[in-house]
Amino acid sequence: MEHPCLRCGACCAFFRVAFHWSEAETFLGGKVPPELTEKLDPHRLAMRGTNAAQPRCVSLQGTVGEAAHCGIYPQRPSVCREVQPSWEFGAVSLQCDKARLAHGMSVLTPEDWLDPFDAGEPPMPQSA
Ligand code: SF4
Ligand code: SF4
Repeated sequence: MEHPCLRCGACCAFFRVAFHWSEAETFLGGKVPPELTEKLDPHRLAMRGTNAAQPRCVSLQGTVGEAAHCGIYPQRPSVCREVQPSWEFGAVSLQCDKARLAHGMSVLTPEDWLDPFDAGEPPMPQSA
């Protein structure tokens, strides 16, 4: 089953993605590429493109609602790691729902996580 986020990307083109500046400082263990950020205030950076009237993170690759992914996935900020898709772990995610609705998509449901090719192991044949 393809992960629903790979056909979405809405949350990366809806919220302002702000985080502590230390996440982009390599000497402090930060991994976010600094050139992809902008200063928001003395304490925080934002992913470029997200502090805008119509946000879209500079690192988002592809087309929202069709095929989209994060271009810096292993290096993405902590706030991105905290956004959970609705029902992936058994609960609604208000952030996910809000972003998808704003982009004209329906919210995810538990059924979106059912893999039609993973209907369970067939029963083992019984020997006589
Ligand atoms: S809005 Fe939800 S489904 Fe879409 S990319 Fe974000 S977490 Fe994934
Ligand atoms: S860094 Fe990646 S996960 Fe975070 S908003 Fe940008 S594209 Fe989305």
